[in-house]
Amino acid sequence: MSQKSDIEIARAAAKKPIFEIGAKLGIAAQDLIPYGHDKAKVSQAVTQGVKDRQDGKLILVTAVSPTPAGEGKTTTTVGLGDGLNRIGKQAMICIREASLGPNFGMKGGAAGGGHAQVVPMDDMNLHFTGDFHAITSAHSLLSAMIDNHIYWGNVLEIDTRRVVWRRVVDMNDRALRQITASLGGVSNGFPRETGFDITVASEVMAILCLARDLSDLEERLGNIIVAYRRDKTPIFARDIKAQGAMTVLLKDAMQPNLVQTLEHNPAFVHGGPFANIAHGCNSVIATKTALKLADYVVTEAGFGADLGAEKFMNIKCRKAGLSPSAVVVVATVRALKMNGGVAKDDLEQENLAALQVGCANLGRHIENVQSFGVPVVVAINHFVADTDAEVELVQSYAQGHGVAAVVSRHWAEGGAGAEDLAHAVVAAADAESDQFAPLYPNEMPLHEKIETVAKRIYRADEVQMDATIRNQLKEWEAAGYGELPVCMAKTQYSFSTDPSQRGAPTGHSVPVREVRLSAGAGFVVAICGEIMTMPGLPRVPAAETIGLNDKGDIEGLF
Ligand code: ADP
Ligand code: MG
Repeated sequence: MSQKSDIEIARAAAKKPIFEIGAKLGIAAQDLIPYGHDKAKVSQAVTQGVKDRQDGKLILVTAVSPTPAGEGKTTTTVGLGDGLNRIGKQAMICIREASLGPNFGMKGGAAGGGHAQVVPMDDMNLHFTGDFHAITSAHSLLSAMIDNHIYWGNVLEIDTRRVVWRRVVDMNDRALRQITASLGGVSNGFPRETGFDITVASEVMAILCLARDLSDLEERLGNIIVAYRRDKTPIFARDIKAQGAMTVLLKDAMQPNLVQTLEHNPAFVHGGPFANIAHGCNSVIATKTALKLADYVVTEAGFGADLGAEKFMNIKCRKAGLSPSAVVVVATVRALKMNGGVAKDDLEQENLAALQVGCANLGRHIENVQSFGVPVVVAINHFVADTDAEVELVQSYAQGHGVAAVVSRHWAEGGAGAEDLAHAVVAAADAESDQFAPLYPNEMPLHEKIETVAKRIYRADEVQMDATIRNQLKEWEAAGYGELPVCMAKTQYSFSTDPSQRGAPTGHSVPVREVRLSAGAGFVVAICGEIMTMPGLPRVPAAETIGLNDKGDIEGLF
């Protein structure tokens, strides 16, 4: 059993040279662009050259509704990838890159945990291969070019009150949420209100993660709506002529990053869009390339299945032509107890009654995922305090839904602890029983798409949308955006829009407060509740205890 911290385990890992990891996937040395000894980008020659090969099987890892008790989706993704390799399958994983800002707020990395991690985890959680820096730069270039255009005469007639392109930085910095720019006199331009979002909330991030290749990337960047005129007609990034230079800045960032798990299995770590105002999964280019290189590809979607899996299916799979063969719903006894009303401090005690109540959350997520036509396996991510009776209760509950629930001990034991899960997943995926279909067709009107997700996934009775929002959606339909999928932004803690309603609430209504068009990424965002696109730091940020020790190693990061 592991008593060590995640970073201690990761530091003790004997990593293989990255060329050996690439060789496992059949990638030749000249097609890897090394970033040090343990990270490499995969060249365009590979991502473009493998297109005609057959696809492996895609396995999505999602979870019950998140709680502060932790579910371990990334940890399970890594553990399952290692477990599949241990049972003799050729498997790899695809996960998101980490945002820098949150590391200095609360502890919690993005590389998995315990004995199921990708390494180098410190690099991955910090600057990694510079992709987020490139995204920040491309975003900032467009910001600068907009204000520069206004400064030099504003030929496009941008209404400076209607510039919708904000600025980004990869740091939790609440002081920048709303700012006034261009202060200081005539030579600094025209003062206007704007603000900063964190880099992962940038539409450039969502675009990078959905683009097929560099030319698709450039076209989507050009389609970004940056501002409106007084007559409310849109101005695009291509009107500002920014898309070519932005693509140059993003050229290397479009290449998937290859690293390894603690058990030396290959992992693509690429892209990291927000899971509320964006779709919350790693890049299409990484997933599609992985499917050509491995027989089984395990990937993760952010938050619970109501948000992450729904968007994975309705946005990423629809747009990229992907079809998952099986879905793993991660459940923990702890999270289900919290969904059943137990307070965080009381989680260590066995509580079968609360667990039984909380299982309703799992049941609804299972049904929802099944409604996409894909087989489900429940992974019970085992924590040391879980009792046998609790684990058995979750297993029999899942069996009642006709689904296998497999205990997995990858956090404590690595891939060996996930072999049972791996066998169950292979059985589900190889049965070829999936009849994947997104929840709604492209041609459904936008407001009906929002209603469909709210009613079928959140089980709401109704959606509240005032006339202004309905008219806005109609205008976008008239402008040719009606075929886009919707990207729902709501709290991840509840099926409803009230984070305190855990479990499986019914009878609620979903208020749509605002809609936004991400014309470059290709979705319409429906904002249902308070959504924060620039996080803040807590009272005592983790940064206070992060530093280098005498040997030059990082201390305090996870
Ligand atoms: P998610 O991807 O769902 O956000 P992670 O996999 O990143 O969750 O895990 C969140 C945290 O929980 C990590 O610090 C990880 O080490 C820890 N964790 C995950 N699974 C376990 C487990 N079985 N026992 C103890 N800690 C765990
Ligand atoms: Mg995760």
